[in-house]
Amino acid sequence: MNIILLGPPGAGKGTQAQKLVDGRNMVQLSTGDMLRAARTSGTEMGNKVAAVMDAGNLVTDEIVIGLIREQLEAGGDHGGFIFDGFPRTLPQADALGELMSEMGQKIDHAIELQVNDEILVERILGRAAEAVTAGGTARADDNEESLKTRLMAYYKQTSPLLGYYYAKGDLKSVDGLGSMEAVQTEIAGVLDA
Ligand code: AMP
Repeated sequence: MNIILLGPPGAGKGTQAQKLVDGRNMVQLSTGDMLRAARTSGTEMGNKVAAVMDAGNLVTDEIVIGLIREQLEAGGDHGGFIFDGFPRTLPQADALGELMSEMGQKIDHAIELQVNDEILVERILGRAAEAVTAGGTARADDNEESLKTRLMAYYKQTSPLLGYYYAKGDLKSVDGLGSMEAVQTEIAGVLDA
């Protein structure tokens, strides 16, 4: 079973992906995590994308499709892939469909976590404040300015994917505003249907 988690920044995609990894032996493929890792290790690509990420804009399709291709080719035995934060544009969605069919696989569900914008902004800025209180540093892009750009990128570039997966018959929408457990239960309902 391969799924995509769709939703704006702060909707809880990463948290829910982690629950699925723990509970179902699935593999989380988060392009955001891969890009942050590339930055930390100072690869040429990591350095190239740093400013774009900090501003809240999307990096090129070519870069993220390349990252996903590498991970898919790595293979392994598991309960399926969770695509978290990918695809974010229509060309990425097409590329993912092609990569999956080359492997003889498919996307079973694109699960949308529905949230409301005001709560999102509170969650993300809260996440930044919590990280600082805990003695760490907030994600460089968890600030108000960059958040506005990330939300705009979501509405302009990513939200068309809702229609794309709806038309394919793969879209499932869940209420992302409930407790972490409630959202988890709704997602389990989709996977076990
Ligand atoms: P995330 O952790 O998913 O919020 O991603 C953090 C940042 O990484 C985004 O704001 C983008 O700059 C970049 N990024 C992550 N995934 C993608 C993607 N699929 N396409 C383009 N940029 C991405």
